[in-house]
Amino acid sequence: MSSQEQLLEGLNGPQRDAVTHSGAPLLIVAGAGSGKTRVLTHRIAHLMAERGVRPGEILAITFTNKAAAEMKERIQALLGVRAANTMWTMTFHSACVRILRREAHRLGYPSSFTIYDSADSARLMQLVCKEMDLDPKRFPPKSFSFQVSNLKNELVDYDTAAEQAQTEQEKKLAEAYQLYQRRLHEAGAMDFDDLIMVTVNLFQMFPDVAEYYRRRFRHVMVDEYQDTNHAQYAFVRELVGAAEDSDTGVVPPAELCVVGDADQSIYAFRGATIRNILEFERDFPSARTILLEQNYRSTQNILSAANAVIDRNEGRPAKNLWSEQGDGPAITGYVADNEHDEAAFVVGEIDKLTDEGTVTPSQVAVFYRTNAQSRVFEDVFIRTGLPYKIVGGVRFYERKEIRDILAYLRVLANPEDTVSLRRILNVPKRGIGARAEEAVELFAARERISFSRALRRVDEAPGIATRSVKAVQNFTALLDELAEAVPGSTPAEVVEAVLSKTGYLSELAESKDLQDESRVENLEEFVDVAREFEHTFAALLEEEPPDEDEEDGAVPSGTLDPGEPTLVDFLERISLVADTDQIPDADDTGGVVTLMTLHAAKGLEFPAVFLTGMEDGVFPHTRTLGDKTQLEEERRLAYVGLTRAQRLLYVSRAAVRSAWGTPSYNPGSRFLDEIPASLVDWRRAESSLAAPPSRGIGGGRGSGGFGSTFGGGPRRGAGKEAPTLGVGDLVNHDSFGMGRVQLVEGTGDKTKARIDFGADIGEKDFLVKYAPIEKL
Ligand code: ATP
Ligand code: MG
Repeated sequence: MSSQEQLLEGLNGPQRDAVTHSGAPLLIVAGAGSGKTRVLTHRIAHLMAERGVRPGEILAITFTNKAAAEMKERIQALLGVRAANTMWTMTFHSACVRILRREAHRLGYPSSFTIYDSADSARLMQLVCKEMDLDPKRFPPKSFSFQVSNLKNELVDYDTAAEQAQTEQEKKLAEAYQLYQRRLHEAGAMDFDDLIMVTVNLFQMFPDVAEYYRRRFRHVMVDEYQDTNHAQYAFVRELVGAAEDSDTGVVPPAELCVVGDADQSIYAFRGATIRNILEFERDFPSARTILLEQNYRSTQNILSAANAVIDRNEGRPAKNLWSEQGDGPAITGYVADNEHDEAAFVVGEIDKLTDEGTVTPSQVAVFYRTNAQSRVFEDVFIRTGLPYKIVGGVRFYERKEIRDILAYLRVLANPEDTVSLRRILNVPKRGIGARAEEAVELFAARERISFSRALRRVDEAPGIATRSVKAVQNFTALLDELAEAVPGSTPAEVVEAVLSKTGYLSELAESKDLQDESRVENLEEFVDVAREFEHTFAALLEEEPPDEDEEDGAVPSGTLDPGEPTLVDFLERISLVADTDQIPDADDTGGVVTLMTLHAAKGLEFPAVFLTGMEDGVFPHTRTLGDKTQLEEERRLAYVGLTRAQRLLYVSRAAVRSAWGTPSYNPGSRFLDEIPASLVDWRRAESSLAAPPSRGIGGGRGSGGFGSTFGGGPRRGAGKEAPTLGVGDLVNHDSFGMGRVQLVEGTGDKTKARIDFGADIGEKDFLVKYAPIEKL
């Protein structure tokens, strides 16, 4: 067999065409698992083996570092380590950083420029807004950061933004943008969005630079093209060069090959636009398009489920994706009573599958919508000892927001804990700057007293501004106030007090930054950790002899009233969990189960997939209910999730899931209803929980009677306005009846209300926008 035949073996007709195509720009559009990524890797091999292309002449762009690594692996398997290493197989960001390290000096940046992550750039924007004396209520720095990022993704510079600005908001934004860029530049730094934008600018301003890279990269390939934003598109365009450029005799355009699937576009919130796919032929008039229709990844059952779901999105061309793999086993469905039962089911099932030898741990993936959901799974994995790893997310107890709150708790438990104290000194921001901190530190050293004591005598510290003295005094007063409440409170109550009294939560809740939204979710989860701890603590004392369980370490003997754990107990327990949180390495265990969000799963495949948290309000995410465009994006995410599975697919949901320590009854995800009933084998079709008062379980939606809406009540219709609530207002809730508002927190869509329904039902927390409540 010739090497050409070898390379083309195992490809179908259209795939071969795509691999061997030369010349005009090529677009490959196809559904999930149809071999798009495989075509890219084979194309690279073919270019080198048959067309004499050197590895250094190829730039292959992937969307995430994980995908880049996987592509490298595939190329390495085909062509060996050296080829894989000399070729640029990387994300847009990494490719741009490489270019900028060489070239950014032309724009006055040091070649060792710093890259600001989102926390750094948010901090800088805050400083900028302060410098401009902007009222943070009217011009929130977080929102400015977000908007500047959008402008950069659209390649709008600050001059243009200023020209286009009409409202005062827009004018201030443009000004802040300019100052922000100036400060970045002075610091020799770029933020994430700059990496792409500055590279494009560089290409446009210095034709010789553009020419150098055009000469170098004769082949440009982009995977997951549906998730490119405008700046990335412009980068590709500049790099490839247009036909006009060849007319002027510069460099002939490079060969471009992009692959994508509009149904898998899941990054619109970051500025990605499927326009880039839809209008490829307009952008590159000589383009050729190849369609792939055969799916090689999944069984027909899995494909049919995914097709049926994505079919509900409007205005998409119908796809005819089919598989030769046979129907395969039915999809397994499971309705758990709560999220812990769900996790127990999932982990139990994985345990069984691996024991039987059906799959190895590394062949299994567990997906969820938001990072916060990983915590419950982590706990069960740790307890059962099944090896696992979390992709993308920082482990729960290592997350910044969790560490911040833990630091507060530690200071409350031990005021001399200097490390924790200094961590929270200015978190959330309260005007205690580095200089003030330094002055306190010097004073402590001089007086030979602890940092904590020096803080209490801050007014004696030399060289400290009056404003800082006041800020420190407010801070210590806040700590005193919190500390006073500790003896009479449960750990969960202490956590909640810290979250609200410090302003930590409201700062996040007001932010428009999506990362902050997930921080809020993580904190919500943390309140649940504390509450659960209280329950298990009580149960532990009742059920187990104290020396048989690791948890006995958390029980100082004889000092406790059962059911009344203290803050110190809670902290001890957490350090235990956080310690066992050390995950064994993938290599010495023969593989680990992968846990990740659906967003991180794009492009990957696994023999067995667990799609968890399939509840309306979780997935689709609450933020998206009632917004058609956003719901469609959630549906594409469901399509991505379903199509990761090769043979075994599980879908599960919990009837009740804790949110803010109170159970929330979520109806089954509408995406479950959209899967044809005949494809799902419900291992457990209904929860055994009794409905909360005044509503029956009946009225299940869709197949098999699952997905009952009990407790959650009907979804608020898209058009219906959420009531504006104030403390003391009387409301009526569809399930719980009359109640009085005790607390209102947050703004806009994130407004939460705590409502007291009287002695039987007690207090419950709601997101006002989605709760079936009416103001009376
Ligand atoms: P996604 O849209 O999820 O990114 P994709 O279109 O990139 O999917 P690939 O990951 O390239 O699909 O391929 C899916 C699976 O099908 C892979 O395991 C791949 O090796 C296999 N495959 C693709 N084409 C063929 C073929 N012609 N013969 C056998 N297996 C194939
Ligand atoms: Mg792919």
